[in-house]
Amino acid sequence: MKLLKDKNAIITGASRGIGRGIALKFAEQGANVAFTYLSSVEKGLELQIELESYGIKAKGYRSDAADFKAAEELVNAVVADFGTVDVLVNNAGITRDTLLMRMSEQQWDEVINANLKSVFNLTKAITKPMLKQRKGSIINISSVVGIKGNPGQSNYSASKAGIIGFTKSIALELGSRNIRSNAIAPGFIETEMTAALDQKVVEAWRESIPLKRGGTVNDVADTAVFLASEMSNYVTGQVINVCGGMLT
Ligand code: NAP
Repeated sequence: MKLLKDKNAIITGASRGIGRGIALKFAEQGANVAFTYLSSVEKGLELQIELESYGIKAKGYRSDAADFKAAEELVNAVVADFGTVDVLVNNAGITRDTLLMRMSEQQWDEVINANLKSVFNLTKAITKPMLKQRKGSIINISSVVGIKGNPGQSNYSASKAGIIGFTKSIALELGSRNIRSNAIAPGFIETEMTAALDQKVVEAWRESIPLKRGGTVNDVADTAVFLASEMSNYVTGQVINVCGGMLT
């Protein structure tokens, strides 16, 4: 049985990495997938074709999650194209790593807007259709560094910690309407974002993780499938760490 059969989902930032992995898993589980990208137009078009090969409806939208008005227009377009939206995955995110002493106001603002304001933008826009249908699952991609902190990532950690507070508040506000809100906190997941790092640092990370490996996009995507599906009907306001035991 497919866990997400006939559900309609929006996934932000799915042209690469974790978002792409979630989009593919959702399609495999029978969901119709609306997804966004910002600069990777070519990759977005390729993903749409790949998703359609699962026999579901798929459509990519070029949309900046950090832009309030664009998020509202996106949700309106998806509702017009797909009818309803059952699942929202706020995945889009960026890093602008540097120590606080060197961090510019621009580096702070860019990360907060792309990672945290985007979650507010999309969640606010999706509330209307979800309230109407009296159901929905909102899944926000946070990070273990939003719980633990990380030197050189004060902007990123703050954005990811903010997502957790937002996720819990929305769970409390919208629970009575059968709208669930949860966060996933991935640990060290090997994607393009992490491929840019010093490989010696990467090896040291792998060694320090109890499961002795970096996570894969599928490790995160499987948890997203659970939170999107009926399997998690009584789960809301939670943060699930997908980190190989890193934060234990
Ligand atoms: P990635 O490979 O760099 O991909 C980021 C995706 O987000 C891309 O598809 C990008 O689209 C999109 N994006 C960025 N800014 C956007 C915006 N303003 N509007 C719309 N789309 C935007 O990153 P990733 O490693 O897969 O990370 C995905 C999420 O997981 C992020 O929220 C990240 O913070 C979180 N996370 C990652 C790790 C990890 O170890 N990788 C760990 C914890 C949490 P374009 O290509 O079109 O720009």
